[in-house]
Amino acid sequence: MQPHHSAGPGIAACTGSQSGKLTTLDVAVERGCRLASPVEDTISLPLEDACGRVLATPVTAPGPQPHFDNSAMDGYAVRFADLSGIGPWRLTVDGRIAAGDTGAGLHTARALRVLTGAPVPPEFDAVIMQEHVERLDGAILVARRPRPGENIRRAGEDIKPGQTLLECGHVLSPARLALAASTGLAMLDVRRKVRVAIFSTGNELRQPGETLNFGQIYNSNRFMLKGLLAQPMLEVIDLGSLPDDRVRLAEALAAASKQADIVITTGGVSVGEEDHMPDLVRDAGGQLHVLNVAMKPGKPVTLGEMSSALYVGLPGNPVAAFVTFNLIARPMIDRLAGATRPQNSKFPAISDFQRRRRPHRVEYVPVRITGRDDQGLPMVQMLGHGSSAALLPIALADGLAMVDAGVGELSKGDTITYLPFG
Ligand code: AMP
Ligand code: MG
Repeated sequence: MQPHHSAGPGIAACTGSQSGKLTTLDVAVERGCRLASPVEDTISLPLEDACGRVLATPVTAPGPQPHFDNSAMDGYAVRFADLSGIGPWRLTVDGRIAAGDTGAGLHTARALRVLTGAPVPPEFDAVIMQEHVERLDGAILVARRPRPGENIRRAGEDIKPGQTLLECGHVLSPARLALAASTGLAMLDVRRKVRVAIFSTGNELRQPGETLNFGQIYNSNRFMLKGLLAQPMLEVIDLGSLPDDRVRLAEALAAASKQADIVITTGGVSVGEEDHMPDLVRDAGGQLHVLNVAMKPGKPVTLGEMSSALYVGLPGNPVAAFVTFNLIARPMIDRLAGATRPQNSKFPAISDFQRRRRPHRVEYVPVRITGRDDQGLPMVQMLGHGSSAALLPIALADGLAMVDAGVGELSKGDTITYLPFG
């Protein structure tokens, strides 16, 4: 398998213990993304299979768009020569062109019935909307002289031949596929899927549907991660759930890092005796580049690399796993996929809640939009009480609000940064 990453200059591997100093979130994201280089292999796919994939060869326009002058409306094509003096003018309609017709032989007509998308012969100066004429028997009455070119979509007015339409790294959205289709392209070159191996760790985990014994919980992270990774540009290798057993975890890590471009685990990255993952990555010859991030929740999130794969150890607490996936793992995966798309849009919002806390780490809390202030900014209400284990608040939230590291007291009416979901 081709290597997808190299630590490169400036990315020193961490060698210290878990209790080392915290990396800021921005630095963690930057290091994680620098470890990731886009997968190189490409394949050619038919348009119908390309939605959500990452374009690998730019798309340029083979010709102009529109291809020919055509009518933007259902109406009547007219010539200025017939609209001299003062109106209204009565024009005989002696031809009809619908979309798909050629209009051949109709260039001598006075007025032409034209339907949307129909070619407009060059002899005609404008198309008048049918709503703006009075229809008589075999003729129309025109009260107002149209502007030159009114309701005519000119050849090449949208796209010039040779113009770059889509660039490498564009994620093929429905609109981009439609654009490619409009140029006549049937196949697109896309990057191969990024292989993402996932597994959950924890002796306590059971699969939903199973019976819980005392002290056990259901594995929720597995389903959250699979949902977050359900994207056409990714192939998920789900290795399930593993107990906190060093031997089994080491085997799973080795297998995962051989098959995948990136291995994402949940749990086992904190400072307890059963938190084995960072050691196991190092024992396997891997390197860790981020051990702890100055964020809440999500502090134990761990980034590294082993054999040819990247490693992202998300914390076990589901909210922490969710937040760190979105803020750190997602941009890394996009980078591996070669996708150039905006990351985690942020907007100003108004806090509709109070929060007192120890100013220390940047904090992300689940919020719901409760309304708009006078300026139209969204007002956001925090859900839950800040537990990184509580899933109900993030399940009901519209997004996350960011409380800056230095803020100790947030009051109602304060401006806050809002990151909407989706
Ligand atoms: P850990 O990061 O392994 O120390 O786990 C932190 C907390 O998250 C513990 O309370 C775990 O029981 C819980 N946890 C770990 N993995 C999962 C999971 N897959 N689903 C739900 N909760 C989990
Ligand atoms: Mg654990």
